Amino acid sequence: MQNSERIWDLVDEHRAEFAALSDRVWGMPEIAYTEYASVAEHAAMLREQGFRVTENVAGIPTAVMGEAGEGGPIIAILGEYDALPGLSQEAGIAEPKPLPGNGHGHGCGHNLLGSAAMLAATAIKDWLAQSGKPGRVRYYGCPAEEGGAAKSFMAREGAFDGVDAAITWHPSAFTEVARALSLANTRMDFRFTGRASHAAAAPHLGRSALDAVELMNVGVNYLREHVPSDSRIHYAMLDSGGIAPNVVQAKSAVRYAIRSRDLKGMLDLNERVKQVALGAAMMTGTTVDISIMSAVSNLLPNRPLEEAMQRNLEHLGPIPFDAEDKAFAAKIQATLSDEDIDNAYRAVGIPRQETPICDFIVPLDVRGEPMIGSTDVGDVSWVMPTVQAHAATIAIGTPGHSWQVTAQGKTAAAHKGMTHAAKMMAGTAIDLLSDGQLLAAAKADHQARLGKTSYVCPIPPDVNPPLQPRPKEAA
Ligand SMILES: [Zn+2]
Repeated sequence: MQNSERIWDLVDEHRAEFAALSDRVWGMPEIAYTEYASVAEHAAMLREQGFRVTENVAGIPTAVMGEAGEGGPIIAILGEYDALPGLSQEAGIAEPKPLPGNGHGHGCGHNLLGSAAMLAATAIKDWLAQSGKPGRVRYYGCPAEEGGAAKSFMAREGAFDGVDAAITWHPSAFTEVARALSLANTRMDFRFTGRASHAAAAPHLGRSALDAVELMNVGVNYLREHVPSDSRIHYAMLDSGGIAPNVVQAKSAVRYAIRSRDLKGMLDLNERVKQVALGAAMMTGTTVDISIMSAVSNLLPNRPLEEAMQRNLEHLGPIPFDAEDKAFAAKIQATLSDEDIDNAYRAVGIPRQETPICDFIVPLDVRGEPMIGSTDVGDVSWVMPTVQAHAATIAIGTPGHSWQVTAQGKTAAAHKGMTHAAKMMAGTAIDLLSDGQLLAAAKADHQARLGKTSYVCPIPPDVNPPLQPRPKEAA
């Protein structure tokens, strides 16, 4: 862990600027592919810090990349800044109270995620400049993590080509090296077309697209019994065909999310769901148009990188939360059920403790019962060795994607968590830049996990990211 203390001083030197960046992004919540103001903040900060900036990465106007250093290996630090709809919330209070505005909110803490990632990249840049070592650091500002799979599109377009390893983090209730568990996930739309008719006078002439959607959903609900138990299938109605019950609905559409433990399992399951849709179309005399909207791969672990990050974390120690941090976390916990809190500990695999916020470190190899979601970091992990940190920024038990996350997005505790995350990431990057053997071991581990399967992006080549227009006032 040579020089890692120096790298942490470099993080501390910049922490105030990046906490302020995080707070500004918190105050301009923008959802998938609309992050024009947030990416402008990130691009401006990259320039201010002296990075070489590339905008419009992979043809996505809300993606940005900054590079610094010369020669040597390239280490990528990945950031995000997208918000979620419906999670608007005043900061620093422990009761639900949406702010006036568009209803969006940083209910997954990506304001912190992006700022800490760029803070780490900035410290690594300074370390490279001061040490004179060859090596490059890149900060990738990645939009639309929530349902937009931007990193998968970026990977498909070669935005990460040439990078030797990637490091990222996510705000969390616990401070730990993240276990690389996530489900591969496809979002697929099914649009049924039938024939309209008077539902009373000529029902025999109608072919109901709404019936087809309902039968498809019933069919998939029966399918659930016969899929691997870690698969997840959920759906939302996009179009129920209109509001008139006396018209046979000629059009109807449903969006599915289909998740599986790995890429191959997901591709198999996608085909089975498609068969159910075709069956529903056949039963109802309708036709169905099937299109993939986005997809992400499962995460591949990387043992050498996880061990290197854990060494950094143990050297750093726990996050120094104080009495005030704990008092607010306790107020947030008072809005949760006992089960929420138990469940959080069970997921991580450690016994319940007294503290309302994680003032300890989770060991590397504890075995919990994680409830697994999906992330577009998965695709990056198929392209190169990848590791993720978790740093505590929220009270233990806080549910993901909740008003409580938004409420805790600007606290002193959140700023401590983001600084700690930056130190975990920067320390690991410095280890990689100083120790060729560690990088070689990470690459060998990655190669072994890939085996004979080379990465194929699960998003078909003709599917484009659902880019959103620049709002007029930001033009
Ligand atoms: Zn998130």
